[in-house]
Amino acid sequence: MFQKEYDVVVAGGGIAGVAAAIAAAEEGAKTAIVEKTVFFGGLATTGLVYAYLQLCNGKGTQVSFGLAERLLHASIKYGPDTLKKKDWGRTPWQPGDGTYSTEFSPASFALALDELLLNAGIDCWVDTLLCGAEKDGENRITALEAENKSGRGRLAAKAFVDATGDADLVRRAGGATVDGMNFTCIWAMHHDPAADPDNFPASFPLRYLAGKECTAHGVGGREVSDFILKSRTLLRNYYDTRYASGEASRRTLYPVVLPAMPQYRKISRIVGKNCLRDGQAMTRFEDSIGMAGDWRSTEKPPWEIPYSTMIPEEIRGVVAAGRTTASEGEAWEITRVIPCAAVTGEAAGVAAALAAKRNVSPDDLPYEDIAERLIRRGVKLHLSDVGLAGR
Ligand SMILES: Cc1cc2nc3c(=O)[nH]c(=O)nc-3n(C[C@H](O)[C@H](O)[C@H](O)COP(=O)(O)OP(=O)(O)OC[C@H]3O[C@@H](n4cnc5c(N)ncnc54)[C@H](O)[C@@H]3O)c2cc1C
Repeated sequence: MFQKEYDVVVAGGGIAGVAAAIAAAEEGAKTAIVEKTVFFGGLATTGLVYAYLQLCNGKGTQVSFGLAERLLHASIKYGPDTLKKKDWGRTPWQPGDGTYSTEFSPASFALALDELLLNAGIDCWVDTLLCGAEKDGENRITALEAENKSGRGRLAAKAFVDATGDADLVRRAGGATVDGMNFTCIWAMHHDPAADPDNFPASFPLRYLAGKECTAHGVGGREVSDFILKSRTLLRNYYDTRYASGEASRRTLYPVVLPAMPQYRKISRIVGKNCLRDGQAMTRFEDSIGMAGDWRSTEKPPWEIPYSTMIPEEIRGVVAAGRTTASEGEAWEITRVIPCAAVTGEAAGVAAALAAKRNVSPDDLPYEDIAERLIRRGVKLHLSDVGLAGR
């Protein structure tokens, strides 16, 4: 049994968790991050999802700032990129520079994330599985249980962030969650002579194969195992078909890197104090912690993200971040992607650090205090802050 105490513990080291940990540490909290794989970045690195979607509304207005922007820059620090603006880093993005998004190498991004976390002084626990939550009599999480090579451990903190991608911490604490539906698919990197050499990354293009079949949720051990094996079967069938047709051989077309986590889009999210819903794009929320564009079309407007969608209905002492925040329908399509994971992650880290400092639960914090710190960090909270008229 190993025991540690922190101000803030972040469960899950995907983009949301990394943003939360960095923000909490920068706000002065003694912070730890717990990740079950050996890489930070979650789906963006371990899952080979190599596209950092846009920080703008597609019509020339930037809407996501702060860590969402810093992490986009980190994703290409060790090269390469597909930004249209090629002098990136020297002059700020301007509306005429094209969509503010890029593709990246998952390996480069993983290296840059390590660097950011270590430079921020965060206690990084990789290869460490969250496997339980302790609560006090007021339903407030006081410690998480983790398992790694040392055996079973207990990481206590004054505030927690659930950035597990599937609300694992809240669920293990007994909180209510809602499951999403997914279809079998696989993104993998392979060598392909038919690939467009101008495409990124030229040597190892990604192969995206989507299955037609709708699968169940991703919260059961059996289901996850079946999903992973089915998705890899898709890939084998693809190679078999192309080899059989004679257009490629095993010497020219072959897999190079496979995703090391299940590529579920929507596994499970918290039941929050509030829920972001269809039709709420372009809506002003008085407790907005930042904004995210709609990646599906430049004709679709951006969204403000309310803090109340990050607070579980019943479980206290914890803020949700990333694809686990409370949203449904098309709103979940927005909150689940990389830029919005960074937006909610940063807000969760700020809130957790503040809660720890005051020794209160994140749901007890006045929104104005969180907003004041986010603004100081360069985050724009409302559509009106970037010249867009919210409803
Ligand atoms: C096929 C596919 C294509 C996509 N395409 C894009 C795209 O083009 N652009 C885009 O922006 N987004 C895309 N997305 C969505 C996006 O990649 C993710 O939803 C986003 O990265 C989620 O970030 P997150 O931090 O919320 O969660 P995750 O990336 O899931 O991170 C959660 C982390 O928590 C860890 N964890 C979970 N449980 C535990 C536990 N019990 N103990 C310890 N650690 C734990 C996981 O290992 C993981 O590292 C795509 C998703 C999929 C599946």
